[in-house]
Amino acid sequence: MTTRVVVITGANRGIGLELTRQLAAAGDTVVLGSRESAKGERAAAVLAGEGLDVLPRRLDVTQQDSLSDLADEIVHRYERVDVLVNNAAVHYDTWQQASEADLEVVGEALDTNLLGAWRTTLALLPLIRASEHGRIVNVSSGAGSLTGMSGGIPAYRASKAALNALTLMLADELRGDGILVNAVCPGWVATDMGGRGGRPVRDGAASVRWAIELPDEGPTGGFFRDGKRVPW
Ligand code: NAP
Repeated sequence: MTTRVVVITGANRGIGLELTRQLAAAGDTVVLGSRESAKGERAAAVLAGEGLDVLPRRLDVTQQDSLSDLADEIVHRYERVDVLVNNAAVHYDTWQQASEADLEVVGEALDTNLLGAWRTTLALLPLIRASEHGRIVNVSSGAGSLTGMSGGIPAYRASKAALNALTLMLADELRGDGILVNAVCPGWVATDMGGRGGRPVRDGAASVRWAIELPDEGPTGGFFRDGKRVPW
């Protein structure tokens, strides 16, 4: 049986780990991308304890060498990537404002949340093009919506707004290849980033999964939460 090959960045904890769990349980071949190998191995061991088999691999979205190494390995193992989930992110900077922002923090957020997703996409694009049902899912946030933009959380907001712009560009350019590219917001989720009070991680992961499961004639170039369009 042919299974989908799915690559998820930032999959050692939070929404990425839960998404890995859900997809592995459904029979997908999931590459559990992790900034540090040891954290990925530990997360994979937890899943193995639940009877789930995944492939933990070092995947630091700020490090081109880790992306090139992964692409080389996937070429030999699977020859394609069906789904890329750009999930890794940093710096939900509630402690600062745009009017007095530390631009080093802004630069780090852009490097991971925007350029990290961009780098990963470029590294894996030849493999995604080799799929008959390519999907790129950018995990964004309502905090990046220009319609709802307000003060505070400047590094994070700017990085997610830019990720949304990248989503539209890629969707347009890759439409002819049959690759669906969408941005999703998982909602407020109780993870290390989201903190207490958010909804369960399985619900956040389900919001992301919706865009993975789209049929070939499904939407591309959209921004969704729980399968419903949200304003850019
Ligand atoms: P989280 O628990 O903080 O997990 C973030 C993940 O990203 C971790 O695995 C982290 O790895 C990884 N990461 C950070 N920098 C990386 C890098 N350079 N390379 C590879 N991985 C890296 O966050 P989460 O709540 O699960 O968030 C997942 C996604 O949902 C993010 O895109 C976030 O912006 C979005 N989101 C979350 C919420 C929410 O309420 N939680 C709301 C809206 C959107 P380490 O363990 O090594 O740090």
